[in-house]
Amino acid sequence: MSDELRDVVVVGAGLAGLSAARALRAEGFAGRLTVVGDEAHRPYDRPPLSKEYLAGTCDETELALERPGEDLDARWLLGTRATGLDRSSRAVLLDGDRSVRADGVVIATGAAARPLPGPTPPVAVGGVGGAGLGAGGLGGGGLGAGGLSGSGGLGGVHTLRTLDDARALRAELVDGARLVVVGAGFIGAEVAATARSLGLSVTVVEAMPVPLAGPLGAAMGATVAALHEQHGVRLVCGRGVRELTGTGRVSGVRLADGTHLPADIVVVGIGVRPGVGWLAGSGVPVGSAPGADGVLCAADGSTGIPGVVAVGDCAAWYEPRLGRRVRVEHWTAAAERPRIAARALLSGPATAPPVPRLPYFWSDQYGRRIQFTGHVAGDEDVSIEDGSLAEQGFLAVYRRSGRPVAVLGVDRVGPFARWRRRLEGEFPSRAQGESRGPGESRPQGEPHAQGGPRAQGESQPQGESQPQGESQPQGESPSGARAVRSV
Ligand SMILES: Cc1cc2nc3c(=O)[nH]c(=O)nc-3n(C[C@H](O)[C@H](O)[C@H](O)COP(=O)(O)OP(=O)(O)OC[C@H]3O[C@@H](n4cnc5c(N)ncnc54)[C@H](O)[C@@H]3O)c2cc1C
Repeated sequence: MSDELRDVVVVGAGLAGLSAARALRAEGFAGRLTVVGDEAHRPYDRPPLSKEYLAGTCDETELALERPGEDLDARWLLGTRATGLDRSSRAVLLDGDRSVRADGVVIATGAAARPLPGPTPPVAVGGVGGAGLGAGGLGGGGLGAGGLSGSGGLGGVHTLRTLDDARALRAELVDGARLVVVGAGFIGAEVAATARSLGLSVTVVEAMPVPLAGPLGAAMGATVAALHEQHGVRLVCGRGVRELTGTGRVSGVRLADGTHLPADIVVVGIGVRPGVGWLAGSGVPVGSAPGADGVLCAADGSTGIPGVVAVGDCAAWYEPRLGRRVRVEHWTAAAERPRIAARALLSGPATAPPVPRLPYFWSDQYGRRIQFTGHVAGDEDVSIEDGSLAEQGFLAVYRRSGRPVAVLGVDRVGPFARWRRRLEGEFPSRAQGESRGPGESRPQGEPHAQGGPRAQGESQPQGESQPQGESQPQGESPSGARAVRSV
């Protein structure tokens, strides 16, 4: 395939896009490389946006992802949005009726913060009943049915995904201000912890009975949540949000039970939506199933469309060890997996691509390092193997049918690293008789699990039929009649 690849376009100038551009060059791609990014900034690191940057202990220059003097011999089209992909004319369509030639495309468009649902922009928000937020903040799970008003253009209401978001929020986090965080996922939890360190009064609202029960399970979620209460954060769980109040600027959050929480600032942390809308009509397969609502990929990032791969937060890669696709929203996957995808793009889908490492993420809250790796369904047995819950420093191992499937560490960096390596080898593969998670059925055309962990990967057979829940993004075909300028 490399003979045909003269122009490769990476869409998305974040961590995954930069990692893909680096990997393409490292793998020997010598053709024209273009990186398209809708933000005006060069690639920057997002994790500090809710931690050090928000706390004012690191500045913007320290966020840069590129090394000093790094030159990938790429053309950077920043402040430029991709609006479509037309495989027939080998073009990525750009805003302003422009296009750029692309024999190969890396989709790396990440994700965007979910705003509060509801109509916008009422000037004064109020009076809309409903069940409010469902699984707020847990990676986008289940907004409850009901007419929660959106932020409605009220001042003081924030989401946090971009540097521009963080600049705006940071300017408002002043000592003594009252902050309500909607959603106790990791972003919400980190914002709460940072805001406490800055002297704000903080309340976190979570619609689920236990924060972080989705990613960590109920028991461990409760343990991490206790950290917040010990640091003076008020946690309100099991109650949804009905509305934001205020005229012009937010004055509070009204809960579904009528309770009003006064607020000078509201941060909405209810998960993200993958950046896949621009692919409407392109033929690139996009999923809608919970947990796999991104570009549907094989275990090497290939999409089934020749010359198109996807990486990072927007991509749901096939996980051979689970036998299904999972969209992973973590830094390490966005940094590591593009190397696998670059090889697939340059050489074609491998017959035995490497098995991607298990999902891993970290979070920093109140000076504690929280680390997690593996996959949980919520029904695992959890045992503390080092430290204790009481001292809030521990290593917890999750087991299913007696086999380890995930590890959580709180201030146990060394033991966690050892367990992480061990889990890579011991995670049960489907071939070892692992049962499916609750509600999982075998999608049509799913390849048979094979091989042990690490040993053999599994490529999706070409022409695999689309699993249930898979759809094209809605929208106009990008190949519709429209004059575009080549750039
Ligand atoms: C505040 C915050 C804190 C985090 N903390 C942690 C942490 O502690 N640990 C951890 O493991 N992970 C953390 N993460 C997650 C981690 O940062 C992401 O997994 C990672 O940034 C994903 O990289 P990406 O390149 O796939 O997506 P992104 O970083 O979202 O980059 C995608 C880029 O593509 C652009 N784009 C989108 N659509 C288009 C289009 N149509 N045309 C052109 N450009 C487009 C976007 O604007 C964006 O610039 C955090 C994320 C945030 C927001």
